[in-house]
Amino acid sequence: MIKSFLFMAIAAPAFSQPIVIAHRGACGYLPEHTLAAKALAQAMGADCLEQDIVLTKDDVPVIMHDINLDTVTDVAVRFPDRKREDGRYYALDFTVAELKQLHACERFNPKTGKAVYPNRFPLGQSSFQLVTLEEELQFIQGLNRSTGRAAGIYPEIKQPGWHRKQGHDISAIVLPILVKYGYKTKQDDCWVQCFELEETQRIRNELGWQGRLVQLIGGGKKDEALLTPEGLAEIAKVADGIGPSIGSVVTGKTVADRHITTLVKDAHLAKLVVHAYTLRIDELPKCTATPEELMHALFDEARVDGLFSDFPDVVVKWLRKAP
Ligand code: CA
Repeated sequence: MIKSFLFMAIAAPAFSQPIVIAHRGACGYLPEHTLAAKALAQAMGADCLEQDIVLTKDDVPVIMHDINLDTVTDVAVRFPDRKREDGRYYALDFTVAELKQLHACERFNPKTGKAVYPNRFPLGQSSFQLVTLEEELQFIQGLNRSTGRAAGIYPEIKQPGWHRKQGHDISAIVLPILVKYGYKTKQDDCWVQCFELEETQRIRNELGWQGRLVQLIGGGKKDEALLTPEGLAEIAKVADGIGPSIGSVVTGKTVADRHITTLVKDAHLAKLVVHAYTLRIDELPKCTATPEELMHALFDEARVDGLFSDFPDVVVKWLRKAP
């Protein structure tokens, strides 16, 4: 009894209402990271809208999941001679004015030309553009004002190590823009996220970021050490939370074999909140048969504090019904 009371006291911030993070916007319904996908997610009641951020040649932060352009735009058709030796097209090789000439679309495999998620928004239909970070922040803040419903932001600094090797310091460019738009402290509705722990440490210790910070943790062998109590203690020195894959929280090869790991409990003991990624109703893990079963395991059993989803409405609806 005393033990459980102490645990709750220590982990108190983790037990507030879980949040729904619209992964790349409501990308289950509209092409990822388009303003349309962000508007839909905002209207669906997502608490936070996610931004993945990469730089252009002229150091303008743009909202894209990959450093490459060829999986979500028509760059190969419009600029066929601009690929690198590896056959890929990089946002960093184009100015923002050039990127604005591209059509953005549903994610596809450049080798086959086929959509990655065949039942989502039709590939190549209608018209969408890549968006700069400032355009996106203005859009979200404008929408928050006109609807009277405030959605937060959840910006990810993509591949900072790679950017720096190419001579571009992405964090040093992105953070002042967040500050300019009013995201400065832990009271502001913004979670900065990054997969590279060294960069998370640098963001906090060297670049002076005072807002919330989340350490993302990959599902592979490379990041296993971060999932241990020792790894979490190291993260807690600089970050407010972790973003692990769903598979690090709920695991099992079959539904019968499903079990909850100790990760969320360990993270809460380290005073870290846990925002797991990513619920896709068209790509469920093997250990759950339905999205509801997965959400029950994540929220009721594991007690995660937030969930990224391509389908934010599904999570919002489930949480509203939850006791
Ligand atoms: Ca992301």
